[in-house]
Amino acid sequence: MTVSSRSAVRVRVPAKINLHLGVGPLRDDNFHDVASVFHAVSLVDELTLEPGPPGIRLILEQPHTGVPVDRTNLAARAVQMLADHVNIEPAVTIRLRKGIPVAGGMAGGSADAAAALVAGDALWNLALPPETLHALAARLGSDVPFALHGGDALGLGRGEQLTPLTHPYRRHWVLATAREGLSTPAVYAEFDRGGRTTASDPAAVIKALDDPDPNALADALTNDLQDAALSLRPGLQQVLKAGKQAGALQGIVSGSGPTCAFLAPDPERAEHIANRLRIAEVPGVSAVRVAHGSVEGARLCP
Ligand code: ATP
Repeated sequence: MTVSSRSAVRVRVPAKINLHLGVGPLRDDNFHDVASVFHAVSLVDELTLEPGPPGIRLILEQPHTGVPVDRTNLAARAVQMLADHVNIEPAVTIRLRKGIPVAGGMAGGSADAAAALVAGDALWNLALPPETLHALAARLGSDVPFALHGGDALGLGRGEQLTPLTHPYRRHWVLATAREGLSTPAVYAEFDRGGRTTASDPAAVIKALDDPDPNALADALTNDLQDAALSLRPGLQQVLKAGKQAGALQGIVSGSGPTCAFLAPDPERAEHIANRLRIAEVPGVSAVRVAHGSVEGARLCP
């Protein structure tokens, strides 16, 4: 198919934290049923898609060990899937600026896949319906549909069956990223060894989202993968403790970790907690950043 192509498009896409991550036992298809409350936070990747030589070329704006630059990169896979869907031979260059920690439990790769779908749709002037982009996203990975939508949402199934959760409150976070990533499959394998049979219920977090008092949300934060992540990376206990000592209302491992997310009462105290954590120089922590949520999903930059 011939397409009219624009010169270049840029998309920003947020990281997620799971305010609730309930994980059920391993299914026959080797996936887990989850009950996840996703929350998109203001830590973003930027993806630019521009016409290039035949094929899909990927350039990382800064070098990153652990991020593939071949066709296994989730952004490249997303562009290929979109091209196949509309019967285009892709001839594009993807430029990726990573602000989301790699292998950090914040779904950075999934975010890039979502950004690539939005970028391809715009570059090739496809104007695909949102349902089509959502279906392609779900084929790419369990967390990709949420990265398209952003905001707050309950994710069921593998996390791809989304119900938006709307509320007027902005939440303030301090994120402690780790020097070394954790492999999501390794954390799930450790979880499976624990033999847990029921997923935690997300009702308390969903209710707390409607409460202006951040203490309600702090009390409800739940992550069924946290024990598995802590067992693989015991040093995270110390990070969680340091965040609480620095004044956080609560701390939680984000998704499969190892990023730790700390809820702060307001933006000023988030800055204060972040500074105290930086000064504490907790072993294994590579950076401490302040973020807020929720924010919108993958969107074209003007
Ligand atoms: P998950 O979404 O599986 O929970 P995560 O959020 O912990 O993962 P990601 O940053 O998504 O971590 O990276 C997981 C792995 O995916 C990386 O180690 C890397 O090999 C691969 N990967 C593929 N594409 C990307 C990408 N665009 N950015 C980062 N990692 C990618």
